[in-house]
Amino acid sequence: MIKIAVIPGDGIGKEVVAEGLKVLRKLEQLSNVKFDFQEYPFGAEHYLKTGETLPDWAIEEFRKFDAIYFGAIGDPRVKPGVLEHGILLKLRFSLDLYVNLRPVKLYHPKLTPLKEKEKIDMVFVRENTEGLYAGAGGFLRKGTPQEVAIQEMINTRYGVERTVRFAFEYAKKTGRKKVTLVDKANVLTYAHDLWQRVFAEVSEEYPEIETDHYYVDAMAMKMVRSPEIFEVVVTPNMFGDILTDLGAEIVGGLGLAASGNIHPRKVSMFEPVHGSAPDIAGKGIANPLAAILTASLMLEHLGLDKESKTVEKAVAKVIEENKVTPDLGGSLKTHEVGDAVVKVLEVLW
Ligand code: ATP
Ligand code: MG
Repeated sequence: MIKIAVIPGDGIGKEVVAEGLKVLRKLEQLSNVKFDFQEYPFGAEHYLKTGETLPDWAIEEFRKFDAIYFGAIGDPRVKPGVLEHGILLKLRFSLDLYVNLRPVKLYHPKLTPLKEKEKIDMVFVRENTEGLYAGAGGFLRKGTPQEVAIQEMINTRYGVERTVRFAFEYAKKTGRKKVTLVDKANVLTYAHDLWQRVFAEVSEEYPEIETDHYYVDAMAMKMVRSPEIFEVVVTPNMFGDILTDLGAEIVGGLGLAASGNIHPRKVSMFEPVHGSAPDIAGKGIANPLAAILTASLMLEHLGLDKESKTVEKAVAKVIEENKVTPDLGGSLKTHEVGDAVVKVLEVLW
């Protein structure tokens, strides 16, 4: 029995998670896997009613699960930052989810705005708890013409090493042959010097895996010109943030982007990259494929390779047949896309 905590959240989060669960339930019928889903109400609605974002008891409860499946949070009625800090960052830091895993995979050539690309299949391993996101810094002479704002970039050997090691382990586990480090060591001569040294050290433990290196500016160009050359990319927090959005866009956009917030030996959390999208919430037109691919990523993490790959194939098939929502040029509703994936899944299994 695989125990999954489900947090559908707000807006389209609820709508797309329902489709992801539909797919997981179909897998229960097709294979021997059994899921125990437990739903939690956290999000804007719950906060507005109770003033509670994410209580500590819930964090303790989540530790007993095999994974967390998360939709999206956000609501125009809640001050920006409250839910992000109170729920998402709290989950990330309390559960020490130190890797943000983001596949950038082209499921059909028609989805990319780039010319003549058939195959893009790379995975970003973004450091998720340090760097410029550590919250270290402050103001000097705030509010005066002489004001100085300092934001420090925190890189610990511990944090860098476990992230780099994850990248190599992930490459090994998924049969990928190359890990690329992306940094800006030519300018960030302390912080990213550490990244380079750690990367070189850790790579020696994986002689069968090729290594490669790009400065982040060169990487941005290369991802547009030749994204097909990359397999696993490991990079500090902020570069990962920016490059994975570029990555999402070259393979079809937010409606398809999946992610995992991972601690390889503890409970991990899987969420589509998009937010609650208040502009389209309630209309039944949200693309559920990002949430369904997120479920596939969660299955891979749980060691259910056949289940994970079959879901991916089913998604590729519905895209090929144009059984998609308006954001991808189709005319189907959210639940119809979920139904289409389930149908293909039955055939493929
Ligand atoms: P949040 O504040 O929760 O991040 P947001 O308004 O920033 O919400 P996002 O979900 O981040 O919205 O996405 C930005 C826009 O992209 C949305 O307003 C929506 O129009 C579109 N979009 C995002 N996800 C999807 C999806 N799954 N299907 C269709 N359109 C989407
Ligand atoms: Mg957003």
